[in-house]
Amino acid sequence: MSVRSDYIWLDGEFVPFDDAKVHVLSHTLHYGMGVFEGIRAYEQPDGKAGIWRAEEHLRRFLDSLKMMRWATPWSLDQLIEACLETLRINKFDSAYLRPLAFVGEGAMGLGARGNKLHVVIAAWHWGAYMGDEGLRNGVRMQTSSFTRHHPNAALQRAKVVGHYVNSILARYEANENGFDEALLLDGHGMVAEGTGENVFVIRNGLIKTPPTANILPGITRECVIDIARYEGIPLQETPFGRDAFYAADEAFMCGTAAELTPIRELDRRQVGEGGRGPLTERIQKLYMDGVRGKVPWLAEGITKV
Ligand code: PMP
Repeated sequence: MSVRSDYIWLDGEFVPFDDAKVHVLSHTLHYGMGVFEGIRAYEQPDGKAGIWRAEEHLRRFLDSLKMMRWATPWSLDQLIEACLETLRINKFDSAYLRPLAFVGEGAMGLGARGNKLHVVIAAWHWGAYMGDEGLRNGVRMQTSSFTRHHPNAALQRAKVVGHYVNSILARYEANENGFDEALLLDGHGMVAEGTGENVFVIRNGLIKTPPTANILPGITRECVIDIARYEGIPLQETPFGRDAFYAADEAFMCGTAAELTPIRELDRRQVGEGGRGPLTERIQKLYMDGVRGKVPWLAEGITKV
């Protein structure tokens, strides 16, 4: 995977890729106080790029900043336009977009509040996050020995740079143990989310997913809920333990990067038939077609370049 592009948007200007550098004393680099987003743009039937649910992503970006007590002069509309411009200037017909707000150099120390908040938007080509094989046949997960932060330890509903150390520890552990991805439980032992995905289980035609009180309110998750509602598939947002996977007929995870990836195994226990279940496949197809402008009722979520 190459993260290269011609230009990166930095504080309102387009900077050539190799010149988009930061100072080593940038505050975020030391302490992790920054927020980011992950957005995908897909090629639409007219051959041009369309950003999937741009408004929801950039609203979450601004909400994350607000929760961290930081503010940016950039408005929602300006950020959406900056994402569109980033696609245009780089001539991308599909891309992963990465807005990031980080605190620059100046004062050090945890209480520093006066440093400049920079906003960056980068874009690159990013294929299937869990691999094409993962999308087709599902991935193997392991319940992590790392717990998701307690709600009084971090504001998990915000997409904060520093929160991802918890995710990375879980991901390294799962990978070193031979699994593709980790499943994180919360402090009560209930299922929270993947390291960068929300999770769903299906049993007897009923889909269940944990509520978003203390996990990232995923935009892909919201789309799955919209699809279930539109298709008349029962879905509950309710807490459950890891045992729900052990007894499930099907399971899947979803996120902007991971899109909709079946889970075929948790903790060396096969989920259902151990592949991509029929309901998962149906929702996955609607999602994959929807983001590409092929499902009329989902097309309003697309912002065309
Ligand atoms: N949970 C976490 C921890 C994530 O990092 C992500 C990816 N942003 C998700 C869930 C899924 O969110 P979305 O569908 O908005 O990408």
